[in-house]
Amino acid sequence: MTKFVSLDTFDVRFPTSRSLAGSDAMNPTPDYALAYAVVRTNADDGREGHGFAFTIGRGNDVELAAIRALEPFIVGFDVEETLADLGGFARGLVWDSPLRWLGPEKGVMHMAIGAVVNALWDLRAKRAGKPLWRLLVDLSPEELTGLIDFRYLSDALTADEAVELLAKGANGREERTIELETKGLPAYTTSAGWLGYDDDQLISLSSEAALSGFSLVKLKVGANQEDDLRRCGLVRSAIGAGVGLALDANQVWDVNVSVDRINALREFELSWVEEPTNPDDILGLARIKRGIAPIRVASGEHVPNRVVFKQLLQHRSIDIMQIDACRVAGVNENVANLLLAAKFGVPVYPHAGGVGLCELVQHLAMFDYISLGGLSSRKNFDPLIEWIDHLHDHFVEPATIVSGRYRVPELPGASTQMRAESIDEFSFPVGKAWIGELADPEAGTGDLNRVGGRHPGGLAW
Ligand SMILES: [Mg+2]
Repeated sequence: MTKFVSLDTFDVRFPTSRSLAGSDAMNPTPDYALAYAVVRTNADDGREGHGFAFTIGRGNDVELAAIRALEPFIVGFDVEETLADLGGFARGLVWDSPLRWLGPEKGVMHMAIGAVVNALWDLRAKRAGKPLWRLLVDLSPEELTGLIDFRYLSDALTADEAVELLAKGANGREERTIELETKGLPAYTTSAGWLGYDDDQLISLSSEAALSGFSLVKLKVGANQEDDLRRCGLVRSAIGAGVGLALDANQVWDVNVSVDRINALREFELSWVEEPTNPDDILGLARIKRGIAPIRVASGEHVPNRVVFKQLLQHRSIDIMQIDACRVAGVNENVANLLLAAKFGVPVYPHAGGVGLCELVQHLAMFDYISLGGLSSRKNFDPLIEWIDHLHDHFVEPATIVSGRYRVPELPGASTQMRAESIDEFSFPVGKAWIGELADPEAGTGDLNRVGGRHPGGLAW
C-alpha cells in the first residue's frame, strides 16, 4: 500500500519590508511569508505535495503549528484512497470538532486546512501528469460537486443546481481552452501602486504597466486623503483614459468614511474599490455599494469561507468576488465559491497579492473561465486576475505574464512547489537571507514585524 509518510513544515519569510513592495494602508511593512507544507509518500516516485498559507511575517510560526496539528489526519493513510476522495478528506478536517472549535471555519486553523488540502491537490495533479487547472476542467460536474461541503449553502446553492451550472458553463469550453492556451488570461497589476512608493516610482511604474499591456492598474489608498487625491491624479495621467484604475483601501475605513472618501475620488473614473471596510461587514459593504455606485465594490481576499461569500452575494454587497487560494479550506471550498459567484452572476477576479498566490490561484481562474465561462451570466464580463511582479523566481514553475496576460502553466501540479535553495535561503530565522537582517536591530523598516515588540502604529487615515 502506498502511504503518506510525512507532513513537513517550513517557516519561509522574505524581507519585503525593505523595499515596501506589498505596503498598504493597513499593512505598512509586510514581510511576505509562507507557512509551507510538504506531504511525502513511500511511493519512491519523487512526487511530493506542496502547499502553503500566506502570511505577512510575525505569526507565520503560529500558522505552522496549526498545519502540524493536521499530521495525524495524513501520515499513515492510504494515498490512492485519500486522493480519490479529496471532498471527503477536506470535509473530515473541517468537521473535526476540536479543530472546528478554533474557528469555526475561519482563521489560522482553516487556513492550515487549506494549505494541506492544496498540497494534496498538488500531489494528485502531479500523479495525474496534469497542471491543476486541467485536472479540474477534466472532472465531471458530479465529481466537482462531490468536492463541495454544501452544509450552510443549500438556501443559496444546491448540489443539483451546481451540476446544472457546470453542465451549462461548459458550453464552448473547447474554444475557450484554445484561446486560453494561445493568448493566456488577462491580468491587472498591483505592482505599480504600493502605498510606500513615492510619486516618481508611482508615475514610472504606472506608465510602464500601461505600455506593457495591462488593462488595469490598482492603486493602494486609505492613508492620507490629500495623498490619495494627488496619487490618483498622477496615476490617471500616467496610464491615460484607456486603462482602468482600481483602488484598494485594505479595510481601513468605517462605512460612512468609505462612502465619503471614495466619492471624493470619482473624477478619476474608477473601475472598483477594494476592501473599503471590514471584510465581515456584509451590510456595511452593501451600504457602501449603494453609496458609491456606479463605482463597483470588490472584496474577498479576507473572506474566511463560503458561508460569508454566500451572504455577501445574497445581500448584493459586492460587485466583484476576489477569491484567495489560501484563505479558505483549499481548492474544494474555492470550487464552491466559484459556483456561488456563477449562480449570482458576479465576476471573480482572484486575489494574488502575496508570495505564491499568483502561482496557485491562476489554476482556479483558468478552471473558472473554461468550466463556467459558458454561462450566459458570464458573457457580460471578461476574465481578469491580479498580478504582482516579485518573488516568482523562487518557484519551480513561476507564474508568467506576457503582454498583460498570464501564460498557461504546463507542468503537472498546482505550481506551488518552491525551489529547495529558496526554502533554505529564506528559512526564518536561520536562512542566509535573515542572518544579516536580524543581526542589525536598526536594519530595515519592518524589524518589529520580525522580532516582535510594540509597533509604532499603522498609517493614520
Ligand atoms: Mg487587496
